[in-house]
Amino acid sequence: MNILILGSGGRESAFAWKIAQSPKCQQLFIAPGNAGTGQYGTNVDLKITDFAGIKTFVLSNNINLVLVGPEEPLVKGVHDFFLADDQLKNIPVVGPQQHAAQLEGSKDFSKQFMQKHNIPTAAYKTFTKDTLQDGLTYLATAGLPVVLKADGLAAGKGVLICLTLEEAQLELTQMLAEAKFGEASSSVVVEQFLQGIELSVFVMTDGNSYKILPEAKDYKRIGEGDTGLNTGGMGSVSPVPFADAAFMKKVEEKVIIPTIEGLKQDNIPYKGFIFIGLMNTAGEPWVIEYNCRMGDPETESVMRRIDSDFVDLLLGVAEGNLNEKELIISPKTAATVVMVAGGYPGEYLKNKVITGTENIHESIVFHAGTSADGDNVITTGGRVLAITTLQDNMFTALQQATADASRIYYDGMYFRRDIGFDLLD
Ligand code: AMP
Repeated sequence: MNILILGSGGRESAFAWKIAQSPKCQQLFIAPGNAGTGQYGTNVDLKITDFAGIKTFVLSNNINLVLVGPEEPLVKGVHDFFLADDQLKNIPVVGPQQHAAQLEGSKDFSKQFMQKHNIPTAAYKTFTKDTLQDGLTYLATAGLPVVLKADGLAAGKGVLICLTLEEAQLELTQMLAEAKFGEASSSVVVEQFLQGIELSVFVMTDGNSYKILPEAKDYKRIGEGDTGLNTGGMGSVSPVPFADAAFMKKVEEKVIIPTIEGLKQDNIPYKGFIFIGLMNTAGEPWVIEYNCRMGDPETESVMRRIDSDFVDLLLGVAEGNLNEKELIISPKTAATVVMVAGGYPGEYLKNKVITGTENIHESIVFHAGTSADGDNVITTGGRVLAITTLQDNMFTALQQATADASRIYYDGMYFRRDIGFDLLD
């Protein structure tokens, strides 16, 4: 098979690494890819939202399957574009259609879906500019802290946890009346704050049956001890000790099955990944959010724990026979440490030469924000590299990933040295 991956981050690097190992994969292309993905396939200079360009490429290179990494093309309807085109409609796209992608693209849609299908989630109400006054009154009666969420995609910035009523009312006003997050905050979900510990659960589905991929914990804050600004993700670990069989059984029965059944009941086809962001509150799972794609940097850890042929699983999604496929999960621990550019997540340094990757033997260096510059590899994004290792136990995995990150150098480089250490007994 010839496979095209859309995207250019650490997640797509991990997909490419895994897919390239499959005997079913003949040619692998990554659009646009990065300086690392060229090890696993051929980078293609295409924008992920240039659907016409993607069509031309897919037809001229006999692509048999398209795997969509990030949410943007899905929310913009890349899958629908394929289905509506006579030449493309039989080429499977792994990633949901636009309607289902609203599970991520609209917080209000996802909250309504969860409420309708009795999936545990925080109590909420949605407000618009026209109902701002009602929103301000509602805030006065809601408990603190309270969570404000821009309805639409806001590049991970649209969620605010407000500790005081004044702050909450000011922020709600700015989001609705002053378009703080642009179009994304023209509707705002006001939600009850959930106390607990977070977990990322990943489900692969063909719309009928599903497979639960290894769960992971990710670390969002820039600073050690979970301090400072939010980032795209600074590291991940899989498995997660508190996600034991009893907890995962609750997740499956209370969240995963009602989600898959709810999609079917609502006639929403879904072929792809569902990323469920959960809060474990006193041993019970509550859904914080759905994403319509895999997480980054969780994918890097998750891919390392999948021992079966990933292309065969993708084919199961595409062909609707996922229940006949085998998912083998390694009992080992995967740990990922993300190396970022100096200044990130604010204005950050770029075009710095990366050295030392050749010294890494016990981890895989997944590239994210990198480009080739002659013989050098330079930094071009905020999140630069993801260092992922797989070891027999968690302590060794955490130590190895951290030690390997420190073997790499570029001007301004930074990474957290505490990823996963909170999970050790
Ligand atoms: P989201 O974009 O919905 O994932 O929200 C971003 C982050 O905000 C989550 O990963 C949580 O850490 C936090 N968060 C969102 N909703 C809640 C909530 N209801 N209670 C507590 N924390 C939340």
